[in-house]
Amino acid sequence: MLDFELPEDLRVLQKTVREFAAAEVAPFCHAWNEEERFPHELIPKLGALGLLGMAIPERYGGAEMSLQAIALVVEELAAVDGSVAITVASHNGLASGHILLAGTEEQKMKYLPDLASGKKLGAWGLTEPGSGSDAAGARTRATRLDDGSWSLSGTKTFITQGSVGGTYVVLAVSTPEKKQHGITAFIVERGTPGFRAGKVLEKMGLHASDTAELILDDVRLADSQRLGQVDHGFIDTLKILDKGRVTIAAMALGLGYGAHEAARRYARERRQFGKSLAEFQAIQNMLADNATELDAARLLIRRAAWMYDQGQRITLAASMAKLYAAQAAMRACNRAVQIHGGYGYTREYPVERHMRDAKLCEIGEGTNEVQRMVICRQLLSRGELHVPHVLA
Ligand SMILES: Cc1cc2nc3c(=O)[nH]c(=O)nc-3n(C[C@H](O)[C@H](O)[C@H](O)COP(=O)(O)OP(=O)(O)OC[C@H]3O[C@@H](n4cnc5c(N)ncnc54)[C@H](O)[C@@H]3O)c2cc1C
Repeated sequence: MLDFELPEDLRVLQKTVREFAAAEVAPFCHAWNEEERFPHELIPKLGALGLLGMAIPERYGGAEMSLQAIALVVEELAAVDGSVAITVASHNGLASGHILLAGTEEQKMKYLPDLASGKKLGAWGLTEPGSGSDAAGARTRATRLDDGSWSLSGTKTFITQGSVGGTYVVLAVSTPEKKQHGITAFIVERGTPGFRAGKVLEKMGLHASDTAELILDDVRLADSQRLGQVDHGFIDTLKILDKGRVTIAAMALGLGYGAHEAARRYARERRQFGKSLAEFQAIQNMLADNATELDAARLLIRRAAWMYDQGQRITLAASMAKLYAAQAAMRACNRAVQIHGGYGYTREYPVERHMRDAKLCEIGEGTNEVQRMVICRQLLSRGELHVPHVLA
């Protein structure tokens, strides 16, 4: 049964990550974002703390954490900086997660230790210029050659760590007539002939996170680089997205909570009409709504993570958590900017950065509209609402 109190080990982890973020991220992240610079110097520190191999078993050099723990880490990082949070969430959940889920023992031994230590960053390429929500519409082609090896050609876009990654997982169409059941995953190493990063994208937010195109031009891969079964890439992707959506929900929660806390402090300090802002009921209402909605998001996230840790299917619970947390975060950031007045609209205060960063949570790993499609598909395909009422 899910307990409302965090167990001791999670409390210790939360404190450790909070202190790390305060010392190693908070003093520098404004500059990283203003300079639109990926903080390479932070990567070994994240690795040393075990935050780059969170789901990876210890025998491959990881910390083997539960999803409840991973969500807590991402939330704490996001409360300070969304860019660091998405770097950690995507590195752990997508490329590493896919290798962990579908890799052979040889592939795990070869790739996971460097990913866990941060020697190499992971990037995961599903999205293409012509296919985002409709991932089955991918055009990147994987052609099997006579000797059993593969040739990959196509373009991916919006890939987190696209230009700074060392180990990439790329999805490509192996059997076009089978649509989503004809997609295969491959591990592509940086420096493989024919494979390179394209344009680095200029974004609304997450300025210290790297997002780039990937270009594949007749990339030759041995069959040993194939990840999982032929034509099974999309099925594995859905499992990876279920888990990933919980961490993006946690990122939203952290961003919303970071903005809310800044607004709470500001409302006590700022005086107008001879009173602190916190004494005006209109401001109190905004703070109360923020706290309530963010707490509701937290419970949805903890339920989804708890269910995953129990070995349960979380498609519905994860989409509900992501949809609600992303929207709650946007509302919380909007109110936080409002409470800051004109100063909230400047880059002097972190709330505008949190608001820009939070918008990604309504788009990445499935837009709000896609989450609603997933939720409704689950509801309509079941005889009853099959989400355990663990919080009731
Ligand atoms: C910062 C950032 C990082 C990212 N990182 C990665 C990454 O590491 N790897 C990766 O593979 N991808 C990544 N993505 C891509 C992301 O997952 C896609 O942007 C997202 O899935 C949406 O796809 P799209 O942008 O093509 O939008 P589209 O699919 O074109 O959607 C446009 C709009 O139409 C709506 N829409 C689409 N279909 C429907 C429908 N059937 N019904 C109702 N509405 C619909 C959408 O909800 C959206 O509002 C990243 C994106 C960003 C912005």
